[in-house]
Amino acid sequence: MALIVAKFGGSSVASVEKIKNITLRIRDMRDQGDDAVVVVSAMGDTTDDLIKLARATGNELCCRELDMLLATGEQQSAALLALTLKNLGCDAISLTGWQAGIRSDSTYNKARINGVDTERIKKELNQGKIVVIAGFQGISPEGDITTLGRGGSDTSAVALAISLKADSCMIFTDVEGVYTADPRIVKDARKLSKISYEEMLEMASLGAVVMQPRAVELAMLYRIDVEVRSSFNSNPGTIITGVENMEKQRVVTGVTHDLNCAKFALFDVPDRPGIAKTLFKALAEHGINVDMVIQSAMRDNRNDIAFTIMRDDLDRALPVVREIAEKISASGMTYGEDVAKVSVVGAGMQSNPGVAAAMFEALADENINIQMISTSEIRISCIIDRSCIETAVRALHRKFALDTLD
Ligand code: ASP
Ligand code: MG
Repeated sequence: MALIVAKFGGSSVASVEKIKNITLRIRDMRDQGDDAVVVVSAMGDTTDDLIKLARATGNELCCRELDMLLATGEQQSAALLALTLKNLGCDAISLTGWQAGIRSDSTYNKARINGVDTERIKKELNQGKIVVIAGFQGISPEGDITTLGRGGSDTSAVALAISLKADSCMIFTDVEGVYTADPRIVKDARKLSKISYEEMLEMASLGAVVMQPRAVELAMLYRIDVEVRSSFNSNPGTIITGVENMEKQRVVTGVTHDLNCAKFALFDVPDRPGIAKTLFKALAEHGINVDMVIQSAMRDNRNDIAFTIMRDDLDRALPVVREIAEKISASGMTYGEDVAKVSVVGAGMQSNPGVAAAMFEALADENINIQMISTSEIRISCIIDRSCIETAVRALHRKFALDTLD
C-alpha cells in the first residue's frame, strides 16, 4: 500500500461543488488501496479577501494577528473536504497545521518549516482515515499560528511528503502541467512529462509559476519527485525531478515570456567607482527589484547605463531614478514600457555551445531587435519590443523544435 500526499490548490476547492469533484479523485486513490494525506489551500480568493478585511481595520497590520486570520481560510476548506468525504462514506479527519505537527520558526507571514512531528498523522492513517491537512500554516516555538508565505500550501505538501516518506507527492492545480511555452500563444506547445528542479526554478522566476518556488527548492534539497497535474481530469501531469532521473538531457526545455517589464536608460554618467552603487542602492531601498543591467563601453569618461525592472514598479521607480540621474549628473534619461522579456531555459545548455547563437538567429530571422541580453547557466533572456513577443515565442519554439519534446 502506497502513501500519497496530494495537494489541492484554491481553484480546486473554490466551491462545495468543486470540493465534491475532488472527493471522487481522493476516493479513487483509496479504492486503489493507497493511504492519502490531503493538503488544501483556502477556497478561491479567500486569502486575498481576508487580507482586504485586515487592511480595512487600519493602516498598520500586525503580522501575528494577520496569520491568526489567514490561517482560518485553509481550516474552512480542510473541514469542508473532510465533511464531504465522510458524506461519501470515506472515513476522514481534518487537522490544522499545528494538529498535524507542522513546526515553523516565528517569522509571521513567511515562516519557514523547522520540522514535522508525524505521530498524529500516522495514528489517524493507521485507523484507516484520510487525513486532510490545512496547508500554508504551522506553529511557532512560542505556540503561535504562523503562515508560510503566499502559495505556501505547496511547501506544506512537500514538507509532509518528505517527513512521512511518502511514495508520491502530487500537486493538483488548474493547469495540466508544465508546457514548453504558453499554449495560448503556441498552438503546438507540449506538456512536458518531466522537468528538472533547476529548470522549474528558472521558469518560476520568469513568471511561469505552477508551484511555489520554495516548495521546488525543498523538493530539490531532499531529492523527492513532485508531480504537478490537473484536478479537473486524470491526465498525467509533469514530474519535477532531478536531472539524473531524466532519460535524456534536453538542450532547451521551454520558452517563457514576461510582459511585466519596463526599461530605463541613463546617458553620459561619469565613469568612476560608486555610480552604480548610488543608483541601485536607491532602488533597493525603495524595494524595487532590478532585473537586467547593461553598462555601455566608456567614451570620454562617460558611460550609458540601461536596466529593467518590473512594470508594476514603474510609478514608484520613476521619481527615484529621476532624482539619482540628476545627482550623478547624467545628461539625460529615458524609460519605456514597450518592452518584454523572452527566455529559453534548458539544463542541457551548459554542455551544448551555440544555444545563444541559435536564439539570436531565430530572432534576427524575424527581424526582431534585441535590446538587452542576460544569461544564467541554464537560461538566456532577451529584452525585445513588446509588440514582437508572440512572434518571438513562436519562432524560438520552432527553432528548438520544442513541439517534438515530451
Ligand atoms: N491560500 C494561500 C494563498 O493564497 C496559500 C496557498 O494557496 O497555497 O497564498
Ligand atoms: Mg492560493
